[in-house]
Amino acid sequence: MRAVVVGAGIGGLCTAAGLSSLGADVIVLERAPEVRGGGSGLSLFGNGLRALKSLGLRSAVPDAVRVSPTLNGTRRPDGRWLTRFDQSAIEQLRVVRRRDLHEALVARLGAGVEIRTGTGVREVRDATVQLDDGTTIDDCDLIVGADGLRSRVRPAVTRDPGAAYAGYVAWRAITARPVDLDAAGETMGRGHRFGIAPLPDGHVYWFAAVSYDEGVEVGGIDEVRERFSGWHAPIEEIVDATDPKDVGVLPIEELARPLAGFVRGRSVLVGDAAHAMTPNLGQGANQAMEDAATLTALLGRAGADVDDALRSYNQLRRRRTQSIARQASAIGKVGQWRSAPTVRLRDLAMRAVPDAALSAQLRRIQDWQPPMR
Ligand SMILES: Cc1cc2nc3c(=O)[nH]c(=O)nc-3n(C[C@H](O)[C@H](O)[C@H](O)COP(=O)(O)OP(=O)(O)OC[C@H]3O[C@@H](n4cnc5c(N)ncnc54)[C@H](O)[C@@H]3O)c2cc1C
Repeated sequence: MRAVVVGAGIGGLCTAAGLSSLGADVIVLERAPEVRGGGSGLSLFGNGLRALKSLGLRSAVPDAVRVSPTLNGTRRPDGRWLTRFDQSAIEQLRVVRRRDLHEALVARLGAGVEIRTGTGVREVRDATVQLDDGTTIDDCDLIVGADGLRSRVRPAVTRDPGAAYAGYVAWRAITARPVDLDAAGETMGRGHRFGIAPLPDGHVYWFAAVSYDEGVEVGGIDEVRERFSGWHAPIEEIVDATDPKDVGVLPIEELARPLAGFVRGRSVLVGDAAHAMTPNLGQGANQAMEDAATLTALLGRAGADVDDALRSYNQLRRRRTQSIARQASAIGKVGQWRSAPTVRLRDLAMRAVPDAALSAQLRRIQDWQPPMR
């Protein structure tokens, strides 16, 4: 089988590895001049790790990479806990540097995978991929759109709803030095949230989300320092321990509407191209890994018919990913509430919900198995 994977993000690399393990000749087309994971961190959960395992990629996330504080949940800016996860809900959580994960995935691609960087795709028609330079790759047996939120493959598969701004921006970075933590998780104020995720070397991956009108110019680390000044320790210390040049900021976006399908003919969407979601459950990349593992398992079944496998992929993946995207979107909306009375109500409601119920929700999302081969 000759497969073309468009995009060398986490979804594209995992899918390329999976297809190659089935004996396919895989070409990965990446628009950027190099394959890069970017500067910040990433939370991986039990489901994503299980997907990596089924793809033979589990060693890309070393087992030593685990969260050290046992306390994890949601706090108020004064440090009072609103909710706390049970240990069972977070024991499989791993936090990694995106750059390290990308390097590890690339290093594990089989000999049957060729990556062409600096190669943008303009559009896909039937079995043909048209590149930005005007040339084409014809007679593809499978075309995988792993090209993210603004996918060029998506229009070949379904009506493209485009991207929608979620109403907030996020700064994120990894500290330049270790910071002592006694707890991790998220702190929610009025239209402001700060997230803390420790890396195994003691450095901290953090994000700061702030409600913002669309298109307004956003500042750098000084704005983060100002907006989160007076919040509980060690938030100010984490910001101070960060090199300003390591801070990235971006508007949070998601698909404007869920897609009607992930497959048409021999074109299939994975990752953000299929279900770009807000990061409120830390599931976007985990779901991309599940996509890759599912597609690989279905195509790898003895005597599998490719069209049947793609149909099953569409059925299995749409429902699950769209449900998770909906939950993530709702969490973000509530988390970014700005008015004092609604925030008071939100905090009261959160304290009233038993920790066990929230932990069960997190366990349910992680409780995923790849299809049997
Ligand atoms: C603030 C923030 C925090 C997040 N935190 C988490 C987390 O903790 N855990 C988690 O699981 N997820 C998280 N996510 C989501 C996660 O980053 C994404 O879901 C994931 O990276 C998507 O991977 P992908 O491979 O589908 O797409 P992308 O990472 O977008 O990769 C797409 C690739 O395709 C290339 N490309 C694009 N267009 C073309 C083209 N026309 N031709 C060729 N190449 C092209 C791009 O250059 C890129 O390399 C977070 C997201 C944000 C914004």
